[in-house]
Amino acid sequence: MIAIIGAGLAGLSAARALDARGIPVRLFDKGRAPGGRLATRRAEHDGARLQFDHGAQYLRAAGAGFAAALDAAGAQAWPDAARRVGVPGMSALPRALAGALPLVASRHVGRITGQPGAWMVQHWDAKDARPGAPLPATPPTEDGPFSAVLVTIPAPQAADLLPGFAAPLAGVRYAPCWTVMAAFDARLPLPDTLRPEGHAVGWAARDSSKPGRDAATECWVVQAAPGWTRAHLERRAEEIVAPLLAELASLSAAPLPAPRWAAAHRWRYSLLEASLGQACLWDATQRIGLAGDWCLAGRAEAAWDSGAALAAAIA
Ligand SMILES: Cc1cc2nc3c(=O)[nH]c(=O)nc-3n(C[C@H](O)[C@H](O)[C@H](O)COP(=O)(O)OP(=O)(O)OC[C@H]3O[C@@H](n4cnc5c(N)ncnc54)[C@H](O)[C@@H]3O)c2cc1C
Repeated sequence: MIAIIGAGLAGLSAARALDARGIPVRLFDKGRAPGGRLATRRAEHDGARLQFDHGAQYLRAAGAGFAAALDAAGAQAWPDAARRVGVPGMSALPRALAGALPLVASRHVGRITGQPGAWMVQHWDAKDARPGAPLPATPPTEDGPFSAVLVTIPAPQAADLLPGFAAPLAGVRYAPCWTVMAAFDARLPLPDTLRPEGHAVGWAARDSSKPGRDAATECWVVQAAPGWTRAHLERRAEEIVAPLLAELASLSAAPLPAPRWAAAHRWRYSLLEASLGQACLWDATQRIGLAGDWCLAGRAEAAWDSGAALAAAIA
């Protein structure tokens, strides 16, 4: 049995490839569901159901492997034939790809103990643990022994979990991204997608224009550019909504109405600015491997390819 820490696309890709070879796996994730940065936020306001893809916006598949995975998971074209999204939300894709693979959810993996061939995974309730903070004082749950451990979480968190691998990970750099989700009573006088050059807004999209969404609710996702995000990084989420929506309004010829519901989410690890430059890391002696978008590039397909490369290295 192989333990896979992280059920984002990289972890799911490795898990599916190993499972297909008859190698049993167990996934662990601190989220309530698989997907990581392929995420959909749901909210209810005044009896209306709202939803926003607040992480990855759309996926491109250059390779046949990822294209087949997107087909299998029911991805549909948006905003053009070359780009695809999950239906009814982006999180439907990882849910479909996870299928019946065993997943231990809502658990923060904080320590790996044991020895090569017999690794133990110690994990805590994700509500009690924060990345970078000391581990909770409560005793962990311990699972194992595992013949190998694969770590498919963002590089800085992987370096905390596996200090022995910190050196090769030190050069990996992510841009952070403040993201505002906002619902409006009226349609905004803007195109479905915007990617302005040299602006505080890096990308904005009418999320409700994606296939399978409720087109009657006007839901927007507005991502700040890395420079704007860094300038406001440590502000509270409530302080981000108004200034970022004001930046969106500056892209509209007509004034924008106030949102009827809005929230902000800070991604500390969004798109990559510097990657590892190799598909994965596999130490055959230690029987520990690492994968993630950070190995190759800041795209969902890179995460998928990295997980597949790690599974191939093990097999
Ligand atoms: C705002 C934003 C916009 C983006 N837009 C696009 C886009 O339009 N197109 C595109 O292709 N890509 C986009 N991306 C990038 C894309 O989402 C990522 O490249 C991809 O999802 C990374 O997958 P991953 O498996 O490597 O990592 P992740 O998705 O980060 O998965 C890692 C998983 O590990 C879990 N985890 C972390 N630490 C622990 C721990 N200690 N214990 C247990 N579990 C843990 C996390 O909960 C997470 O589920 C975007 C990303 C962001 C944030």
